[in-house]
Amino acid sequence: MEQGKAALGWAARDASGHLSPYNFSRRVQKDDDVTIKVLFCGICHTDLHIIKNEWGNALYPIVPGHEVVGVVTDVGPGVKNFKAGETVGVGYFLDSCRTCDSCSKGHENYCPTLVLTSNGVDYDGATTQGGFSDVVVVNQDYVVRVPDTLPPDGAAPLLCAGVTVYSPMMQYGLNAPGKHLGVVGLGGLGHMAVKFGKAFGMKVTVISSSLRKREEALDRLGADDFLVSSDAEQMKAAAGAMDGIIDTVSAGHPIVPLLELLRPMGQMVVCGAPSEPLQLPAYAVITGGKRIAGNGVGSVRDCQAMLDFAGEHGITADVEVVKMDYVNTAVERLERNDVRYRFVIDVAGSLQQGGAA
Ligand SMILES: [Zn+2]
Ligand SMILES: [Zn+2]
Repeated sequence: MEQGKAALGWAARDASGHLSPYNFSRRVQKDDDVTIKVLFCGICHTDLHIIKNEWGNALYPIVPGHEVVGVVTDVGPGVKNFKAGETVGVGYFLDSCRTCDSCSKGHENYCPTLVLTSNGVDYDGATTQGGFSDVVVVNQDYVVRVPDTLPPDGAAPLLCAGVTVYSPMMQYGLNAPGKHLGVVGLGGLGHMAVKFGKAFGMKVTVISSSLRKREEALDRLGADDFLVSSDAEQMKAAAGAMDGIIDTVSAGHPIVPLLELLRPMGQMVVCGAPSEPLQLPAYAVITGGKRIAGNGVGSVRDCQAMLDFAGEHGITADVEVVKMDYVNTAVERLERNDVRYRFVIDVAGSLQQGGAA
């Protein structure tokens, strides 16, 4: 088989999840491929689950990373929309079948044979390796343009965290001025939902398990209100007020008190993925005809629309930029939620060529 471009990344070799330098090669650039020099890559909770094999599907060695911002260095002859020098992004997936019901309706993020950017299996059978590496090669239809107005480090988390909350907000009409949005959890996803909600002109209330993040939510992120979910009185006073809720919490938590915050026919969207089952008594949705949906990232079209919107409104993630050799510490800190709000690796600025074993 013809060898593609030599690549250097950091990979996990086993369920310890410890990352270390790893030499591999990218596929040969095809006619409709874009070759991208990685500048920055965010660290998402999903990376953490995968490298530790918590979902039982790890394909070691794993180069994580699916919040990629980089610069186009080369394109195949069939690529019309991108050229060398442009700043682009790659998100959670980098290909899909293009023919199934989801793909044909523009919801390719729900394609049954979606090819994930990292720890996925490509249509040629190869395991995919993500953005904790110097170069990626991606089909043009799964590459998005990053507006020049956005700093590439703060833009990286938009590719997963950003689109994961933006997409359901668009889908369920939680993007209209004057509507009331509840955001549960103030982490990587939650802080993006607050920013988008305010940019849409909504009233935004953050719901958190403790008072700890109150000032942060109100003063710095511009939320309108803050509720402590364990304060029954506060929650009762706010009942029936919200048009929609974006729940981003990935630890187990009761959802009935959250559903009570919704207006009749209000929409709750589950974006976090606790490992425990949700506890949902029927009365909690029957009373008031309330609705619950899940959401997994967003389509390429949604992702591009989200980036364009973020570019117009100057929306980026709040990030802590780290060097590649800090990644294992960053992963440990992320496990303790000790980050405000996303780690982003300065890949181009800290990945040393020639240092791999
Ligand atoms: Zn992610
Ligand atoms: Zn498909």
